[in-house]
Amino acid sequence: MDGFADLRAEVLAANLALPAHGLVTLTWGNASGIDRERGVIAIKPSGVGYDTLSAGDLVIVDLTGRVLEGARRPSTDTPTHLALYRAFPEIGGVVHTHSTWATVWAQAGEEIPLLGTTHADLSAHPIPVTRPLTVAEVAGDYEAATGTALTETIATVGPAALPCALVRGHAPFCWGDRVGAAVEHAVALEQVAQMALFTRLLSDGMPPALEEHVRVKHHTRKHGPAAYYGQG
Ligand SMILES: [Zn+2]
Repeated sequence: MDGFADLRAEVLAANLALPAHGLVTLTWGNASGIDRERGVIAIKPSGVGYDTLSAGDLVIVDLTGRVLEGARRPSTDTPTHLALYRAFPEIGGVVHTHSTWATVWAQAGEEIPLLGTTHADLSAHPIPVTRPLTVAEVAGDYEAATGTALTETIATVGPAALPCALVRGHAPFCWGDRVGAAVEHAVALEQVAQMALFTRLLSDGMPPALEEHVRVKHHTRKHGPAAYYGQG
């Protein structure tokens, strides 16, 4: 495993960050990262607890899912991660959780509306929900079909402008240029999902969307060539 030590360390840290941020219960979640030059992905092994997870437990696979290193089976969600990596070269890391508030929206089958600047900092778009999978897709290569539905959902906007999406009836997937960024997006999404639900409750119906000029201001001050948020 010496050949992929840096990738293993990066992906281990991302996986351990998920319970630290309160985003996963038991083993319901996984993070992966890719080395694009070598075409290899490190991903959490299936069903292994976070409390005992080590860098050596991570499984190294190629973009077709072939295991290159690892004594354990890779996450059952590996085909979903691979579909995202294959479709979008700009994705460097993927995180999946069943974090409560984002999952509530996924189970309702509703996109998360853009109601405030916290959301606009994460994305300038509502967080979409994937289409229903067909009976054949669920009976066949279910996890790959989930990946297909995700790539369809974000294809128009692209993964840079839309760093997460909800799988209908399931839970969120998030991504970023590195897996650490994907973790940050998962943390932000969970907050945005909670805020949006309570905003809707307080508004006794559908609250107004954030005004266009405020939405654009908040997104562009943090993202893109004119960004000035943070320390540069
Ligand atoms: Zn899941």
